Amino acid sequence: MDYNCTVITLFVSSHIFNVALLYSQTRKAGIILRGHEVVLSLPLWVESFLCNSEKVFPSIEERMRLVIMLSRLNVEHKTGGPFGAGIFEQKSGRLIAVGVNQVEPANCSIAHAEILAITFAQHAIGHYDLGAKKETAYELVTSTEPCVMCLGAICWSGVTSVVCGARDEDAREIGFDEGPKPKDWICSLESRGIKVVHDVMREHAKTVLTDYPKKGGLIYNSRRQQT
Ligand SMILES: [Zn+2]
Repeated sequence: MDYNCTVITLFVSSHIFNVALLYSQTRKAGIILRGHEVVLSLPLWVESFLCNSEKVFPSIEERMRLVIMLSRLNVEHKTGGPFGAGIFEQKSGRLIAVGVNQVEPANCSIAHAEILAITFAQHAIGHYDLGAKKETAYELVTSTEPCVMCLGAICWSGVTSVVCGARDEDAREIGFDEGPKPKDWICSLESRGIKVVHDVMREHAKTVLTDYPKKGGLIYNSRRQQT
């Protein structure tokens, strides 16, 4: 359903602000079409959800709880796939940006939760490299381990740590294709100085995945590797 959009939300500084990207043209969930521009956006419910949420998440469990909630709400609102992610200041736990899967509503295969979270975070800090400021390390927290595309994006993002909930095999189990990831992907990231913590609240995160098809969610990738 089309509706008027007035705000794209970015998350900056110690608070969450609505940044002055004000549009008033027709918008479909997840995407704004403006001439030859395509502007990805988060569903409108994300803004109101975060306004009522904590802004600092000291423990990785608290950070994971947030992104799992985002993944669940994305399914319940029928605004995309069962995946959520966030970028936090690693030390303080301050939330910088979030993302939820927007592949289907945006008609965009790269609109994964991690990609959106990284993109919004880089916009928020004003740099393409989240590792540019040596004094501030950033952490990606994702409700499910990254697919092969997000794995590549993580390498260039500048984050220094990745925290994962469900395993990629949990996503594969319900039919998603995670791509040809190397088996030693954790070692690959760690060899680049990116610490990986996985299985954080895995069962909670996995429940969102297993509920997704039961609720009629679309497993949108149809061309899996032929075996
Ligand atoms: Zn991905």
